[in-house]
Amino acid sequence: MKCDKCNQEIKEDSKFCSYCGTKVEVKRKEPDYDLIMKNLSSIGQELRVLRAFIASNLKLTKEYKKFLDSDKCKKVLLDYKGEMSKAGF
Ligand SMILES: [Zn+2]
Repeated sequence: MKCDKCNQEIKEDSKFCSYCGTKVEVKRKEPDYDLIMKNLSSIGQELRVLRAFIASNLKLTKEYKKFLDSDKCKKVLLDYKGEMSKAGF
């Protein structure tokens, strides 16, 4: 791997760069795929809950209610699911 600061090749498990002494960032953990899938499948449910909440909250604008029912909003959700499946989730 390479040092973020000086770009020198350093050992894979180094804690500090042996060239410039910069602390090496700990690698991020693998994403929790199960959680991601769970979240994806619950989007529809959350949208219904949100819509019900908004419908019961008179302070929110009609425009926002309209947005949640709109094709644009649905498209965003579909695009998101599409991108996730393209990425192999
Ligand atoms: Zn370095």
